Amino acid sequence: MKPEIIKEIRQALEQATRWTYDSEATGIFVEVEKLRWRQVMPPREMMPTIPVACLLLQHAPALLDELERLTAKQKTCRWHTIDEDEMPGTYKTECGHMFSFCEGDRAENDAVYCQYCGGKIKESES
Ligand SMILES: [Zn+2]
Repeated sequence: MKPEIIKEIRQALEQATRWTYDSEATGIFVEVEKLRWRQVMPPREMMPTIPVACLLLQHAPALLDELERLTAKQKTCRWHTIDEDEMPGTYKTECGHMFSFCEGDRAENDAVYCQYCGGKIKESES
């Protein structure tokens, strides 16, 4: 999913009216103002959709977080060595950081993901 769509959904969620579904009352309760809820009866034709919409709205933030986390894993971050002789194991990252391993280089330390942006490290000569 494209980051713009994720952003669009997050913005829509922020502006959405809060409501909850009560299966026993078969109605929905809408927060008309802070902590003031009003029961409304949706059209009968919409009833099968209400529990689904309620579930999706409830879990949408976690779903979006998970999507972003998975997308970050596919992302890469190019690391350039600074100076192998003067500063061994020191890198400038594509996401704008500097990092030095205490001992050895990236490969010797089995570093796979950038700790700053979460992208998979691609090493290249500076
Ligand atoms: Zn990075």
